Amino acid sequence: ALRSWQRPLREQFPIITAHPELAYLDSAATTQKPRAVLDAVHTYLTTSNANAGRGTYPWANATTALVTRTRDRVTEFLHDPAPDRSTVHFTGGTTEGLRTVARDWLATWLTDGDEIVVPFADHQANLAPWLEAQALLAARGLRIEVRALPYQDGSGDYDPAALAALVGPRTRFLAATHVHHVYGADMNVHRLRAAVGPEVPICLDAAQSIGHLPVSVADLDVDFVVFSGHKALAPPGTGAIWSRGLRGPAFRPGGWQGTPNTAGIAGLAAALDWLDAAGPDRIERWTVALTTRLTDGLSRLPAYEVLGCRASLSAASPVQRRRSLVTFRHHAISSQDLGFILYSHGFMVRCDHHCQAGAATGATDGSVRVSLHLHNTPEEIDALLSTLTNLQ
Ligand code: PMP
Repeated sequence: ALRSWQRPLREQFPIITAHPELAYLDSAATTQKPRAVLDAVHTYLTTSNANAGRGTYPWANATTALVTRTRDRVTEFLHDPAPDRSTVHFTGGTTEGLRTVARDWLATWLTDGDEIVVPFADHQANLAPWLEAQALLAARGLRIEVRALPYQDGSGDYDPAALAALVGPRTRFLAATHVHHVYGADMNVHRLRAAVGPEVPICLDAAQSIGHLPVSVADLDVDFVVFSGHKALAPPGTGAIWSRGLRGPAFRPGGWQGTPNTAGIAGLAAALDWLDAAGPDRIERWTVALTTRLTDGLSRLPAYEVLGCRASLSAASPVQRRRSLVTFRHHAISSQDLGFILYSHGFMVRCDHHCQAGAATGATDGSVRVSLHLHNTPEEIDALLSTLTNLQ
């Protein structure tokens, strides 16, 4: 049965309550939106829609205030200890955000002979922009060396000791991911600072962590946090780059010189309010409990292989660090077929290579990813497990 808090909570998601026969298990691709977010977008567009930063009349002023307030809301959500020294730049999502950091900041900051360290098997969005910056600089005759941020083992967690060996006096930048979008691992980002030293800017792809667990920039000690609003209950086409005291050039002028997605920003502010009220720590505990239930169940089904964190259940094991998603393969059914079969039973999952860098040309046909949020239930996991059992 649903927990007492869960029924009213599920009822806050109109698309979920409209389809009791379906289980939405694809929140890592994009999240469903609570009514408060939908209402905030509607209210903004029907009461004060105007352009930001240039008006002398109340709707324009309200829009300017909304954008400014939402910037502050982002710093607060990230537990920024020094918001006055930070910048928040709104984007359409993580892909655009990482590309903005690469083109409009990194490519103007690096000089000939500099080195950068970036992950080679995380999301493509966290590799392509850094290679693009390298190519942009090469066209100007500047040589940048790109080094691969190593994994520790098959678990999809980084290896800080190996990283330390890659870092030298010319290392100018490190890109990392907070929670891996295929392996579900919390990448222990706080260990990376010690490996690179205090001076190297660290840019964090937080697409799978914002909205799923508490994120504190003070604790993580990173310089950029890039995320997608749409993966954190906000509308599609929203996201932000948070930066701690940008070193060197600021991003391309865009603030008041271009029209921001103000309706999306209204929805993003409402989403951050909703998440803070629900409690990122509660979301983390709940989704970790559900993914543990799923991995435990899958470990009893020999037809399936779980990717990434699949070691023993001891307290120190990587399983403890798995967050809100589980990715697996069936030994005989292709991931696409499994996806179709699962939907015929009402389960919406992601199946392919999940945009993992280097994976598209791999030998496998991909995998099935189940990703969760606070509206998901143990009953959904048990029903999924029983369907998967019947498909063995
Ligand atoms: N990085 C990671 C870790 C992701 O999971 C995703 C989305 N799958 C992205 C980047 C790209 O996000 P978006 O599509 O919102 O730009």
